[in-house]
Amino acid sequence: MNWVIVILTFDVEPDCPPFLWSERGLKEGLPRILELLDKHEVPGTFFFTAKWAERYQELVDEIRERHELGCHGYAHERFDKLSLKEAESVIEKAKKVLGDVKSFRAPNLKLPLEYYKILKDNGFLVDSSKALHKGWKGIREVNGVLEVPVYTTSLVTRLPWRIQLRWHKKNNRVKVLMFHPWEFVKMPINHRPDCWFGTGKKALDLLDKIIGFYKSQGAEFLTLVDFYHIYVKNKDLY
Ligand SMILES: [Zn+2]
Repeated sequence: MNWVIVILTFDVEPDCPPFLWSERGLKEGLPRILELLDKHEVPGTFFFTAKWAERYQELVDEIRERHELGCHGYAHERFDKLSLKEAESVIEKAKKVLGDVKSFRAPNLKLPLEYYKILKDNGFLVDSSKALHKGWKGIREVNGVLEVPVYTTSLVTRLPWRIQLRWHKKNNRVKVLMFHPWEFVKMPINHRPDCWFGTGKKALDLLDKIIGFYKSQGAEFLTLVDFYHIYVKNKDLY
């Protein structure tokens, strides 16, 4: 495998919004993730919904110290359903709670292109709200913010190892992997398979395996903002 950069990202929110809204992922899942990243000594980018950042301040402090804190809206709003003005006030409100954050991911990966300007005006440098599996191509600037798209959905990383391995073996140079804390807690069976399929210990063992696999390939693990700073110095590499 060629030289690869892996960016582990976690959307920190209540459990599978807007379907469940319990907080087991925050209480049980997030500490498990932090422990696993510590074990492997790799960094993560944690896009926090600001409303829950206010309630889980200790976890926010730990992430700020050891990883990257990013923004995932205030109360998990769908930005494509907000006017430009509404989106602006949500992002300003979230920033007031989260402080100096540079990376953004919109809930449900829904961020209209004209809204990137709001991110820029609020000091964000980089976004990961687009996805290669939804047709976005490559890494590029949008209205003054660098877009680094998601590589796989979190459902892929809950598939049996021998099936998901083919995604990991593909030759993309930059792989943004996306997870949620609630995936690492056994979720009750409900009408949305993506909200419970493969959750719990299975998902945690797979994340362990994914990190181990990329480490064995000599991949470099970066936070999203660290990647941004490397990228802008040498765009031709990616
Ligand atoms: Zn989300």
